[in-house]
Formats: sequence, C-alpha cells, structure tokens
Amino acid sequence: MADVLEQTRRLGHEVFPPIAARGQPGRLNRPLVKALGEHGLLELVFAGSAVELCELREGLAHGCTEAETALALQGLGGYPILSRGRPELREEWIPRLSRGEAVAAFALSEPEAGSDAANLGLQAKRERDGFRLTGTKLWISNAPEADVYSVFARTSDDGAKGVTAFAVPRESEGLSGEHLDLLAPHPIGRLDFDGVRVAREQMLGDLNGGFAVAMDTLDLFRPSVGAFAVGMAQAALDAAIAYTQEREAFGRPLSHFQAVSHQLAEVATEIEAARLLVHEAATRYDAGIRPVRKASAMAKLFATEAAQRAVDVAVQVHGARALERGHLLEHLYREVRAPRIYEGASEVQREIIARELFKETR
Ligand SMILES: Cc1cc2nc3c(=O)[nH]c(=O)nc-3n(C[C@H](O)[C@H](O)[C@H](O)COP(=O)(O)OP(=O)(O)OC[C@H]3O[C@@H](n4cnc5c(N)ncnc54)[C@H](O)[C@@H]3O)c2cc1C
Repeated sequence: MADVLEQTRRLGHEVFPPIAARGQPGRLNRPLVKALGEHGLLELVFAGSAVELCELREGLAHGCTEAETALALQGLGGYPILSRGRPELREEWIPRLSRGEAVAAFALSEPEAGSDAANLGLQAKRERDGFRLTGTKLWISNAPEADVYSVFARTSDDGAKGVTAFAVPRESEGLSGEHLDLLAPHPIGRLDFDGVRVAREQMLGDLNGGFAVAMDTLDLFRPSVGAFAVGMAQAALDAAIAYTQEREAFGRPLSHFQAVSHQLAEVATEIEAARLLVHEAATRYDAGIRPVRKASAMAKLFATEAAQRAVDVAVQVHGARALERGHLLEHLYREVRAPRIYEGASEVQREIIARELFKETR
C-alpha cells in the first residue's frame, strides 16, 4: 500500500469513526473489524512489515482509536498463529482474520501473573493425544467474544521454560468468560478454562517453547504500541495548535503566550523523538537484527510516556472544555493511560533496557 501512514490517517478520520460510533462502547465491534478487513488493513498487519504495522497504528490512532485498537488486537492475537502455527492451523485462521471475518485475542495475563508473566499458572495437563487446560486468564482484550485465543499455559514447573502456547477456539467445551469495564472503552474480559481439551495440533511452536512465542510477539508489537501513542499525541498536539491560535485571553491568542507555545514546542519535539525511536525499532525488526528487545522496549517506554505528557498539555491549554464528556481530549486523556501498563508496564520496560545494558557491558 502506497504511503500507509497518509492513507490510514485518512481512513481513520473519514471511514471508521461512524462505524466505531455505532458499536457498544467497551464491546467487540465486529463491523469495525470487518471494515478494517475490507480496506485491506488487516491483511497488511499479517503480510506487511513492522514499519508498516507502526504506520497503520499511528495513522489510525490520529482519527479513530477504536479502529486502531481493533486492528492491533487482531494482530497481537493472530501473530502467534501466523508465526508458530502448523500450516493447517494457519490456513484455518489467518485468511479469516485478514478479512475481518474472525477475531483473535492474546491470552497471557492472569490474576496472579501480570508483569511477572513467566509465573503464569494456567495448567495444561498432558493427555494421550493432547492437553487439558484449567485456570483463569484476566484482562484479555477481545475476550470473551474473540473467535480464537493464543493461550499461554503451564506444561512444566520450570518457570519461563515450562510454558506452551495453544490456539484455542471460542467454542471449545469448558471455555467461558465475562466482560470487564475499563476507564477507556476497550473490549476486554476474563476467561475461565474448566478442563478445556486441546489437540497437539493446536500447539503454537514447541512444547515448553511458549514463553519465547509470547516474547517474540511482544518484540514486534511493543514498538507499534509506541506508534499508537505517537498517533494519539499528534492528534492532541494538532488540536492544541489549532485551539491556542483561536482562543483569546487577556486580549491576545493563547499561542502568543510563551508559557503556552513553549509547552507545545516541547511536546512536538518529544513526539518527533518518539516517532524516530519507533521507526528505529521497527526497522531493526524488519532487518532481522536480533536481539531487538532493548530497542523495542525503548520505543514503547518513551512513546507512551511522551504521549501521556502530550495529552496532558493539550488538555491544560484547552481549559475546562477539554474535560467535557465527548471532547476529543477527554477521550484521549482516558485512552492514553493504558498503554503505559499493557504489554509490559513502563517499569518493566526499564527493567528490560537495564538488563540489556548490563549484558552489553559484561
Ligand atoms: C487495556 C488493557 C488491555 C490488556 N490486554 C491484554 C491482552 O490482550 N492480553 C494479555 O495477556 N494481557 C492484557 N492486559 C494485561 C496487561 O498486560 C497487564 O495489566 C500488565 O502486564 C501488568 O500486569 P498487572 O496489571 O497484573 O500489574 P502487576 O504485575 O501487578 O504490576 C503492577 C505495577 O507494579 C509495577 N511493577 C511491576 N513489576 C515491576 C518491576 N519489575 N519493577 C518495578 N515496578 C514493577 C508497575 O508499575 C505495574 O504497573 C491488558 C491490560 C490493559 C490495561
């Protein structure tokens, strides 16, 4: 697709918002996923590069965070199947996920294992020709309505070396779940596995190799969370630039006060730095440079923290009206918070970066 960023920005402003608005806030919006498929964007998530994934996410986030989120979750849930599923499994799911006819989810977190994901406890007990899954997954985006889950389960007591990934269809007997409501509308829920049977063929990657599947997926998706943050930050900055030139106080536009314009200059600089870090991590990923974990963590950390500051400044220079329910900035203020927590909180990203730094100097 030529100029992915520009095209998705346009689609994010013109095509997806009405479809997003017709959905129920905080619930999976299947028509939105379908529309993303019809415009070829989901296919690009699965067949395109990391740089394109980041451009898709930044572009959509500028005009329609709901479409951005739907696209990202489809990629996150589907990528383990694409990268590690057997050919029949890939054939079963990837074309439908690419067309937006089925919905995927990534099920790693648990009530007792969020940041410390290697400590997960959902049991996969071996049976003659497969496994039986028992336990709970929590804060799983697109749950409980997704059609297929990439589930990470414990197959031995050996910490990160005892995790195996499986593709689990929603209709599986013994699988149930419920919705959760968050600060910003986001389709998310809990999943309960009560002896869910999975065949060996549903394994994603090797037995006890599931933690690497999760981490490889996050290496790709973390920079793209940064791109999502950049898109939101840019939308907030654009709104602030427009508004502060219009709004007058003390006889002149707000933009004429240096205390205002310099804040926007700082924000613009941080957005540009974030965009470059995101691009660098994605470019390294595409070039096959490994490990990419430090670059990926830096991109996510810097961009999500910068976006939080950007949105906060934009709210401040708008005054009270930014807090009115339905205002773009009220929406972004709620949306921008979660990316600093999911796919590894900022503190976890700093841990990853520090670990790699000391490895490099050892
Ligand atoms: C909107 C949203 C969508 C999500 N979607 C998914 C999904 O699709 N699939 C999925 O599997 N999970 C998902 N999650 C869960 C998310 O990945 C976890 O919330 C995250 O990993 C943090 O885990 P926790 O909430 O249990 O926090 P905890 O692990 O309890 O940590 C709480 C806080 O402690 C601090 N902390 C933790 N570890 C350290 C450390 N080593 N050093 C310093 N400080 C630390 C951090 O500030 C952290 O925020 C989602 C969460 C949200 C909010």
